[in-house]
Amino acid sequence: MMDRSINLPLFRYHPDPLFTGSIIQSNAKCSACGQMRGYIYTSTVYSSYDLEDEICPWCIADGSAARKFEATFCDDLPLIDAGIDAAIIQEVTTRTPGYDSWQQDAWLTHCNDACAFLGDASKEDVLSIAKDGLQVASGEWIDQETMRGIAQNYRAKGSPAFYKFKCLHCGKILYGVDFD
Ligand SMILES: [Zn+2]
Ligand SMILES: [Zn+2]
Repeated sequence: MMDRSINLPLFRYHPDPLFTGSIIQSNAKCSACGQMRGYIYTSTVYSSYDLEDEICPWCIADGSAARKFEATFCDDLPLIDAGIDAAIIQEVTTRTPGYDSWQQDAWLTHCNDACAFLGDASKEDVLSIAKDGLQVASGEWIDQETMRGIAQNYRAKGSPAFYKFKCLHCGKILYGVDFD
């Protein structure tokens, strides 16, 4: 089990970044605050600086890493396209840990808000999606037949990848998909 003795900052839109793997225990020094905080962010950073495994969760949470390096941690375009409030987009892109994706991360939305990212879908999740087929965020439809085939061979962090999100308002579970 992961060590939960240190309280990480709370991220409304990414409630368990240790579980999703975006944040890991590490002795790496944070390039924003210059300290070894015991945890480091491992996932997507959009910045002109190379910041792989170099930012601590606290410098994400307070926005200081985003300010210092003009960094964002996920793409704002899907959120803009969904008509999400600018303050929410700001929180998700600059004060929330992002996630690993193959080609393009896309933060899902529901009920006029960004959803909480829950991590890679489990095999059980993908099997349950396969019962109905899947409407992908881009509007494409993956039919039941195709989904069943995918589910047979699915493993988390493989390709295709399924990312699980939950609406913070109605509780609906949504999945994003990406391929290598
Ligand atoms: Zn820091
Ligand atoms: Zn909803």
